[in-house]
Amino acid sequence: MNLASGCTVVRNGQLVIGNGLPAIPEAVLVLQDGRIAYAGPAAAAPATPPDARTIDARGGTIMPGLVEAHFHPTYFNVAALEDLDIKYPVEYVTLLAATNAKLALECGYTAARSGGSLFNIDVWLKKAIEKDLVPGPRLAASGREICGVGGLMDWNPDFRKIGMEGLVLLINGPDEARAAVRKLVKDGVEWVKTYPTGDAAAPDVNDHHTLCMTYDEMHAVVATAHNHGMKVTGHCRATEGIRNALKAGYDTLEHGTFVDDECLDMIIERNVPVVPALYFELASIEQGPAIGMGQKVVDGHKETLEGGAESARRILKAGGRLGMGGDYGFAWNPHGDYAKELEFFVNYVGFSPLETITCATQTGAEIMGRGDEFGTLEPGKLGDVLIVDGDVLADISLLQQRSKFIAVIQGGVVKAGQMSQPSELPR
Ligand SMILES: [Zn+2]
Repeated sequence: MNLASGCTVVRNGQLVIGNGLPAIPEAVLVLQDGRIAYAGPAAAAPATPPDARTIDARGGTIMPGLVEAHFHPTYFNVAALEDLDIKYPVEYVTLLAATNAKLALECGYTAARSGGSLFNIDVWLKKAIEKDLVPGPRLAASGREICGVGGLMDWNPDFRKIGMEGLVLLINGPDEARAAVRKLVKDGVEWVKTYPTGDAAAPDVNDHHTLCMTYDEMHAVVATAHNHGMKVTGHCRATEGIRNALKAGYDTLEHGTFVDDECLDMIIERNVPVVPALYFELASIEQGPAIGMGQKVVDGHKETLEGGAESARRILKAGGRLGMGGDYGFAWNPHGDYAKELEFFVNYVGFSPLETITCATQTGAEIMGRGDEFGTLEPGKLGDVLIVDGDVLADISLLQQRSKFIAVIQGGVVKAGQMSQPSELPR
């Protein structure tokens, strides 16, 4: 991704660094050639060249671009399982994914980690974004997911004779687990997404207390992935699945719904980040019945909502790391709503706005393995910045209001928000 050239000075706002320290009032941010040269009090700011571009934050907030830590670029208005894999041909889903990526950037998300993608679309989407062919967050790609045969993601009955080719690699035993990872290696995938457990969405055969992979399969995935420099994460709701994942050496956990004391100790000891993706549960409960979601499913989501919220509180309190990401792309939880996750964590889970923003910036970048490149506004890092007209620490819901975004900046280039100029969009 190209960096800006020249100097940009952002003035007249509070600075939220992204590392959890209190905001600095009356701050200045200086970007030089796309990177942060200064971020601190206006009184101590260095002199800048007279031709520097100036951005007025209007007394609002200067903060790092947000990181969506569980992003499904290929999900689009999913209302039924079939929508995830066979509704559209891959050609069309690729265009949808590019549209979702552009939207995420406009929503202030300058980086995102894929939580799984149809075929290898996220790998190529990432390349296109890096080449400035299409606008979008800096991506980490997952490609196809891995799940045990008969598990949560194996839903096409045999009579259809279509398997799950585009979305999931189905495995039986450690040998097939290794083979599945090896299939992903050459495709450019960075994260191997697996399904250790089921979910409330499949109450009859794969509910949230069901295991969908064995420990041996998970261990084989981790050993093979780590050997090739890839990381492993997994959809982990049931306690036993969380325990298996931690013991197998997973790099992060998605959801981490029912964490017991032993799992919490392992999470803290190994400093494993967890991405709860919780607003999805509330949205399912609130909107599910109207779109025909069965009572069993809704009840399951209530259980995972409460379990997930409690686990998130315990992890944060114990000093653990949480990423903010939300499985957006469903009919009742659409792309574009990403920052609802943040308001939800403040109002429902009980995190402070500053804690929530730290999860959504610094921790998100760390999960992507790029904590030294972005995620906080500190000298030397990339100029990935969100400037909001208003105090996001007083009202976190401002982060859902794109009309309040003065600028969404990547590498010093204004990509979206009120200040975006057509000439600055990727050519
Ligand atoms: Zn997901």
